[in-house]
Amino acid sequence: MSANEVVIVGGGPAGMSTAIFLAHHRPALADRIVVLEKERYPRDKCCAGGLGERADRALSAIGVRVDVPSVPVNGVSAAFQVGEIALREGSIGRVVRRLEFDRALALAARARGVRIVEGARVTAASASPRGALVESSAGTFAGRVVVGADGVGSVVRRALGLPFGTLRAQAVEVDTEPVAGDRARDLLHFEMRDRSFPGYLWDFPTVVDGRELVCRGAYVLHEGALGAGRGAGPAPDAERVLRSRLAALGLDPDRYRRKRFAERGLDRTAAIARPTALLVGEAAGIDPMLGEGIAQAIAYGALAGEYLAEKLEAGDLRFNDWGRRVERSLLGLDIRFRRRVMRAFYGAPRERVEHYLLDEPSFLRFGMRHFAGRAQPAPDALRAAATGALVVGRIGIERLLASLPPRAAAHP
Ligand SMILES: Cc1cc2nc3c(=O)[nH]c(=O)nc-3n(C[C@H](O)[C@H](O)[C@H](O)COP(=O)(O)OP(=O)(O)OC[C@H]3O[C@@H](n4cnc5c(N)ncnc54)[C@H](O)[C@@H]3O)c2cc1C
Repeated sequence: MSANEVVIVGGGPAGMSTAIFLAHHRPALADRIVVLEKERYPRDKCCAGGLGERADRALSAIGVRVDVPSVPVNGVSAAFQVGEIALREGSIGRVVRRLEFDRALALAARARGVRIVEGARVTAASASPRGALVESSAGTFAGRVVVGADGVGSVVRRALGLPFGTLRAQAVEVDTEPVAGDRARDLLHFEMRDRSFPGYLWDFPTVVDGRELVCRGAYVLHEGALGAGRGAGPAPDAERVLRSRLAALGLDPDRYRRKRFAERGLDRTAAIARPTALLVGEAAGIDPMLGEGIAQAIAYGALAGEYLAEKLEAGDLRFNDWGRRVERSLLGLDIRFRRRVMRAFYGAPRERVEHYLLDEPSFLRFGMRHFAGRAQPAPDALRAAATGALVVGRIGIERLLASLPPRAAAHP
């Protein structure tokens, strides 16, 4: 059995950045942080690889640069039933391949002295005020603290008896050759014309082994994600949604290898810590609206690295304020905001919201600048917020009026 200060389960962006940021704040601890990863790098992760520049900014603030082949992104386009919009904001991010990105991040962690054990599949974990114990295919690891960074199916979350939450989605993707009608390669395209389900389709430019391809996918929210009675019934199968889109584009769905995975949103009613144990990244929960989780996983890592440094120093490992720390951070604010937008977008008369998004581009601009981690000019942010509040308020009033019992018919 090996004794460590911190045992991190999962070597994706959340686990690696937790290790990197903790080592940054407490360099003396670096060689007593161990990351247990069930795969061996380079390992793939089902993901479209859209990475906001805010993630690169957060890493470069502590001297980490992840240099991998990428497609630069300058803006987004979105197609709704009532029209289309394409906006650019200068460089806002890039599209990476997780096969390359996660390996490079692991190398950056190793360069800072963090120990990474590959091929270590964790099967059980326990945490008590006396410390944590993690069992894996590579042996048993003891630590003062365990961090669950093992993604959507988190073994740590289950082992600690932490609830799974309701904000779930299914996502499926393929890489295909470009087709006529594809948007410019510097845009992330969101296809939202089909209003029959809560979710969207996407086309992101990608480069696979030097070939310019397009990653196309479908993101479908679980029927319970919008709250009781607010969905449009059982959600369709994401694979079926993607197949019909591919066919509509003239692509044979059977020609491409489909990759499928679930996603989990942060559910504020579900705990994400126990004494000596906490969850980060998708094990805790990310943005449920778009399922944009890489930059959020890195933001979790930045927050957890700082939090753990502080708590280890103070010898206070109860972690009873980890959930609150996340909720009150910029990351928590971001996720809360997206939860609201998600419920307004899918729960409201879609046509009204679509018109708002097309007529008031300040809202999408706000989103792009946030993706990039760039400062928001106050007048633009105010304008987006005020118009958004107006639209949501009007929709709320309409919904309230519609829910009132009909007036009794007047008797002659
Ligand atoms: C189809 C699809 C497309 C997506 N597209 C985007 C996108 O374009 N942009 C974006 O920002 N986000 C996207 N996401 C979301 C993003 O992929 C995740 O939110 C992000 O990877 C979460 O990072 P993480 O480190 O928390 O978890 P993960 O990246 O899932 O990492 C978890 C790690 O833990 C390891 N692990 C799991 N179980 C064990 C175990 N028992 N023992 C040891 N190790 C274990 C895994 O091998 C993995 O390395 C997409 C997701 C899907 C499914």
